[in-house]
Amino acid sequence: MKQWRSYRSHRTHLRYRTPTPRELRQKCPAHDLLDYLDGVPEGHTIHRAAREHGKLLAGSVIRVSSPQGRFTDAGRVDGSVLESVEAYGKHLFYHWATGDIGHVHLGLFGKFRVTFGPEQIAPKGAVRMRLAGESDIGIVTVDLSGPTDCSVDAPPVRDKILARLGPDPLRRDADPQKMIDRVRRSDRGIGDLLMDQSVIAGVGNVYRAEALFVQGLHPLRPGSQCAPSELQELWDTVQKMLRKGVKDGRIVTVDRAELGIARSKHIPREDATYAYKRDQCLRCGREISRIEIANRTCYYCPTDQPR
Ligand SMILES: [Zn+2]
Repeated sequence: MKQWRSYRSHRTHLRYRTPTPRELRQKCPAHDLLDYLDGVPEGHTIHRAAREHGKLLAGSVIRVSSPQGRFTDAGRVDGSVLESVEAYGKHLFYHWATGDIGHVHLGLFGKFRVTFGPEQIAPKGAVRMRLAGESDIGIVTVDLSGPTDCSVDAPPVRDKILARLGPDPLRRDADPQKMIDRVRRSDRGIGDLLMDQSVIAGVGNVYRAEALFVQGLHPLRPGSQCAPSELQELWDTVQKMLRKGVKDGRIVTVDRAELGIARSKHIPREDATYAYKRDQCLRCGREISRIEIANRTCYYCPTDQPR
């Protein structure tokens, strides 16, 4: 059984907007802890989910079900101990004591909902997978809806998924040189390559636009024309942005010091990015350009990111 203390330290570490245990009890039977929907999930969302689910459920016997019915593998691990939860890029892996590994990919529409209560609450909407474990403040329920993939397999399936992914800047085992080599060998635009999960894992549309902006790289610049030092800096920027995203639970890429924003001031979503979904560049005021790359609109500033 998970002890409250471990959850508290986790809460402090990640600065969740969660209530105290007393407040939680008062708010029972159900309380939404997190809303991951800050746009389409990128790597930070996945790593944050892995940390949270690990803290809340790992080491416990978990009831696994599929209220909606489409997660047909639920019975395979129902009643087993969840050992750990791992994130790689946009993929989540649930390691079960049975040796099986659950795989979740949120895709564009997937989301989690975490609730506490004296008993399991009724599923809200089409819940594909429900993980329920006991804690000293009641039942922790993690509901997953709308994922692209939710399945349970033997370990080789995880290995196969990892084999086709590039390095993930949020993982300690990541090797940026792999990304740099892949990019340098390609004539595709850097804005296209950044979204390719086999080149670098975890970057989505917001971080693509913002990292390229900060590095002053035009999204159509061919990978082969990017210097290794530029790509190392791009990696470092993406890594810094993603880490901040995990910590904040939202995407804020602007530099407070540059814009003279006090540390205590909340940055609203529309001012949290330099170029992404903006009409004018936050830095120079010029009109932001939009082009379709890798099926998503890429935003860039023609002044700050010359070709
Ligand atoms: Zn600009």
